[in-house]
Amino acid sequence: MTKIAELLDQGKTLSFEFFPPKTDKGRDRLRETITELEPLEPSFTSVTYGAGGSTRERTVDAVTELNESDSITVMPHLTCIGHTREELTELVGAYGRQGIQNVLALRGDPPKDAPDMEPGDLERAAELVELVREVGDFSVGVAAHPEGHPLAPDMESDRQHQAAKLKVADFGVTQFFFRVEDYLRFVDEMERRGVETPIIAGVIPITDANQIQRFAAMSGADMPSELVERLDAHADDPDEVRRIGVDVATELSDRLLAEGAPGLHIYTLNRAEAPRAVHENLELVAA
Ligand SMILES: Cc1cc2nc3c(=O)[nH]c(=O)nc-3n(C[C@H](O)[C@H](O)[C@H](O)COP(=O)(O)OP(=O)(O)OC[C@H]3O[C@@H](n4cnc5c(N)ncnc54)[C@H](O)[C@@H]3O)c2cc1C
Repeated sequence: MTKIAELLDQGKTLSFEFFPPKTDKGRDRLRETITELEPLEPSFTSVTYGAGGSTRERTVDAVTELNESDSITVMPHLTCIGHTREELTELVGAYGRQGIQNVLALRGDPPKDAPDMEPGDLERAAELVELVREVGDFSVGVAAHPEGHPLAPDMESDRQHQAAKLKVADFGVTQFFFRVEDYLRFVDEMERRGVETPIIAGVIPITDANQIQRFAAMSGADMPSELVERLDAHADDPDEVRRIGVDVATELSDRLLAEGAPGLHIYTLNRAEAPRAVHENLELVAA
């Protein structure tokens, strides 16, 4: 196991994000995806965490399985919404006993089917960072929102909050975005607020245009109109949509690395094809 903060000190990172599968078929597919992505030697992988009961157990199961592989460093996501302090302490302690050294500390959102769920003992991700540090010697990351958090009252308070949160974390990982300028502006504004924490850029290769537009609306990422038009023009051709998705993600990743991003975090949606293609293209560009 390795700490992500140490990996970032050594050079640029490449990481892959997965979600916990709901079915046996989904679990088999995730295993295949991991087998296909492992040869790319990712710096680390991460597994998302849901606010509902059974999805939490699935995250722990997927994290445990990934952690059993000697060649893969895993970072569980953890959300504090709906949890007591004791539950969070127990979960983080159990990860520590497994030898896991990294956690992405998040507030989380209430699940769609339980919008009025009890908020839990902690209100903000920054409080969870503190709790994780109290439990053990973890490298702790937080979410960063370059285009602002969708529920923020205004951009100024959002930026202030994000700067304060990043200052207590070891690294940030951004929400996905499509314009390199949004990332650079965010990093610049954080630096001007005294943030020195590395901010890893989140990149999503589009494989399904409707799905990405839904995700973008939920997360506050703005899809450039020229990209939407390009995808719409090939709405009947899924192969072409995937090809555009890989091209766009490659170009964005290449520029991000050239502009100094400390790492790329690829949202895989549990599929290997697009992340592999982006990786291959980047190697070609580098060559
Ligand atoms: C890389 C990444 C991974 C994610 N993984 C998951 C996951 O696994 N599971 C999941 O459920 N969700 C996940 N999310 C989504 C995330 O949980 C939501 O965006 C959630 O609404 C906010 O979480 P946060 O940790 O950014 O919260 P926080 O940092 O606590 O707050 C979010 C926003 O609230 C506002 N805010 C907070 N505190 C203050 C304050 N004191 N003053 C003013 N404004 C304030 C700010 O606008 C702030 O940006 C992820 C997001 C990212 C970017």
